[in-house]
Amino acid sequence: MSIEGILQEGFVTTSLDKIINWTRTGSMWPMTFGLACCAIEMIHAGCSRYDLDRFGIVFRPSPRQSDVMIVAGTLTNKMAPALRKVYDQMAEPRWVLSMGSCANGGGYYHYSYSVVRGVDRIVPVDVYVPGCPPTAEALLYGLIQLQSKIRRTTTIAR
Ligand code: SF4
Repeated sequence: MSIEGILQEGFVTTSLDKIINWTRTGSMWPMTFGLACCAIEMIHAGCSRYDLDRFGIVFRPSPRQSDVMIVAGTLTNKMAPALRKVYDQMAEPRWVLSMGSCANGGGYYHYSYSVVRGVDRIVPVDVYVPGCPPTAEALLYGLIQLQSKIRRTTTIAR
C-alpha cells in the first residue's frame, strides 16, 4: 500500500512497551496462595459480585500459568519454603501482592515463634493490601494499583 493509501486508511502509533504492558495488565493470571481467613475475601473477589474476570484476572491453579501471586493470610515458618518454591516456579515477569495484616507483617501473630513477620522476607512484594481481612474491594483496588505499576514498567529494562 502506498503512503497515500495508508494515510487515507488511518493508523495508530505507539511504543512496544505500551503494547506489551497493555496486554499484561489485561490478562493478569494470579496464582492463589490462600493461607488463612484472608483467602475467603480473595475468593469472594473472584465470585460473581466483584467478578475479577471482567478485568482479565483469572485465577490459575498452577505456577507455570501464573504471573501474579496473591499471598492471602498468615505465613508460617513451616509453609515459607513452599511459598518460595511456588514463586520460583513462576516464569518472569511475575508480581506478588501481599493481602492482609498477617501477610504484610505478621498481623495478630507478629510475636509468634511460628509466623513469618511479612511475606516480603521470603518473596519480593509489589503491592501491600492492608486490613484484617481486607475487603474484596480493597483487593480489587490493590490489583488496579498493580496494573498501574505494570504500566509504568519498561519491559526492556526489566
Ligand atoms: Fe486472618 Fe486477619 Fe490474618 Fe487475614 S490478616 S489471615 S483475616 S487474622
